[in-house]
Amino acid sequence: REAFRDAVKTVLERRLFYIPSFEIYGSVAGFYDYGPPGCALKQNFTQFWRQHFVLEESMLEVECPAVTPEVVLKASGHVDRFTDLMVTDVVTGDCHRADHLLEAALQALLDGKPKPLDTQERQAVHHLLATVEELNVKQLGDALEQYGVKAPETNNDISRPFPFNLMFKTSIGPRGDQVGYLRPETAQGIFVNFRHLLYSNGGKLPFAAAQIGQSFRNEISPRAGLLRVREFTQAEIEHFCNPDAKDHPKFQSIAREQPLLFSRALQMSEEKQPQAMQLGDAVSQSIIANQTLAYFIGRTYLFLLRVGINPKRLRFRQHLANEMAHYAEDCWDAEVECSYGWVECVGLADRSAYDLRAHATKSKTDMSAYEPFPDGSRMVDVLVAAVDKREEKKKLTGRNFVPSVIEPSFGVGRIIYCMFEHCYATRKGDEKRSLFHFKPIVAPVKATVFPLFAQPTFIDQAQAVAALLTAAGLSTIVDSTGASIGKRYARTDEIGVPFAVTVDHQTLEDSTVTVRDRDSTTQVRVPIAEVQALLTELVKG
Ligand code: ATP
Repeated sequence: REAFRDAVKTVLERRLFYIPSFEIYGSVAGFYDYGPPGCALKQNFTQFWRQHFVLEESMLEVECPAVTPEVVLKASGHVDRFTDLMVTDVVTGDCHRADHLLEAALQALLDGKPKPLDTQERQAVHHLLATVEELNVKQLGDALEQYGVKAPETNNDISRPFPFNLMFKTSIGPRGDQVGYLRPETAQGIFVNFRHLLYSNGGKLPFAAAQIGQSFRNEISPRAGLLRVREFTQAEIEHFCNPDAKDHPKFQSIAREQPLLFSRALQMSEEKQPQAMQLGDAVSQSIIANQTLAYFIGRTYLFLLRVGINPKRLRFRQHLANEMAHYAEDCWDAEVECSYGWVECVGLADRSAYDLRAHATKSKTDMSAYEPFPDGSRMVDVLVAAVDKREEKKKLTGRNFVPSVIEPSFGVGRIIYCMFEHCYATRKGDEKRSLFHFKPIVAPVKATVFPLFAQPTFIDQAQAVAALLTAAGLSTIVDSTGASIGKRYARTDEIGVPFAVTVDHQTLEDSTVTVRDRDSTTQVRVPIAEVQALLTELVKG
């Protein structure tokens, strides 16, 4: 695993997919720059995300500031509760996440065979964190013994765990008298705009709003490259619906799609996982409580496959009650397996009416929606006098309620990193020649145009073909270096360019070029006049 990870990382860094930020000043943990191919790939990724969700699901898109005044995050609960438990090493001053230490302790105890924790072990960690209040090393040892494992060496140099708030604090204005935070999620920008969005949707539910943007978390110990960083791009959807009507009109169509892999936390042992189950079955067995959440799980599954995640290394796992965020009613993670183990890449949560209610109370703004009763008017108990809680029957034609929210939350960098690993390979028979099998839709460059020889006639013709492709929105590079064609193919394979167009002697005679497919290495000859249409079609996939 580690050798594989190092091999991938070497190519990614050498070809500038991503690199540690501020490198000439020694870097700061948890920050990365995307270089030219990384940037292009990330743009393509978010563009396709917009296509798959915002456009195909008719969502309302917003873009809100990252700097957020304290009152918003106070209302949402983040100022008080967006914390991880931290311990400090009193000797070295190093800080650690308490659950990561617990994981490490558990790992060391597993017959001396360190391995990533399985679902049950991870659940045990969450359980320990939830139950062992004011955890210290002695208590940790005792608690572990309850789980039938020997206590680890006690280490008196470690502090008691204490909550550490992950938000970056800042101040707003020249006098700095207004406290602000860099947002830890993009969702709150959507919630505070709920009234505008409802209005622009004609006052009707359900509807969804989406936002792609930067989020910031001052992670205690950033690690694992792009997987745990302090600034990252999130793509989030907030789907607002009637809490009593979580059916989804397009559910049946998605339920017929390929099987999805579901694992229900704790109920299924790791050996049995992943268990293949149709989405429809999962809903009818009430493993997934509502259709809308299930629908988004299905759409997420299809999205991840389309961008190049290997379906055999993808599963959906339900959270246990003590693992869920403070606002969640039900939560499923899309987990992807990579060299670091199973990684949460998308969180799909039923946030109920938690956020809208919280903002309604704090801002004294009406966050309710109105819906007529489907069966006409009804007699309803209405509070007529608040003092003595007197109720009277009244005839009403509909009701006001605070909508529920179903939220799919995508971590762009995490998915991209897993995609890098899943798409990485070496050419058969030549282990030194690496390539990325990127799906054309996300590939940073769609085609490389090669003049067979570095001579003006070939180069000019290659530039003309490249211009044709660029004009059609197909990002293209021209490799007119004098290296052999084999070497040049190897170079574009290494950044995962799906197609190569070669201008050769015959081109000068009959205006045709060869088009080579990266994965099969087969070539076809096509007229220049048809190259643009052909590649446009192939890139769509
Ligand atoms: P974790 O438990 O791994 O810290 P989380 O449960 O706090 O993650 P969410 O709050 O559900 O994560 O965030 C939604 C998504 O944002 C995650 O599924 C993940 O893809 C991404 N994400 C969260 N934290 C980070 C981070 N520090 N670096 C990169 N991506 C992140």
